[in-house]
Amino acid sequence: MVNWLMAILRLRCSHCRQGHVFRGFLRMNETCPHCGIRYEREQGYWMMSVFVGYVMYFVILGPISLVLYLQKVPLMTLFAIVGVLIALLAVPIFIYARVIWLYIDELLDPRPKQN
Ligand SMILES: [Zn+2]
Repeated sequence: MVNWLMAILRLRCSHCRQGHVFRGFLRMNETCPHCGIRYEREQGYWMMSVFVGYVMYFVILGPISLVLYLQKVPLMTLFAIVGVLIALLAVPIFIYARVIWLYIDELLDPRPKQN
């Protein structure tokens, strides 16, 4: 479990947990540089990562919005804070949503071991 989380945090391949998923800022490798699996299994594969991103936004911004609302922060201030957070989180959520989707997909439909 800890290995699994560390591999996600370090943006490593869901299959071998060694190869880098990204090779630069917002640039993904098409295949794993370590085990060679192709990350994008089919056309439209990353659509589910968009959904993962929405869930991540909800998990992060939901509690923050609730706390601000319960603190009686003015609504326009609350919207401004949430808007800034959405902008700041866009890139990290894009990156981690893709990696988390790779891990979910590997869990649901494991690729055959390659030797
Ligand atoms: Zn790999």
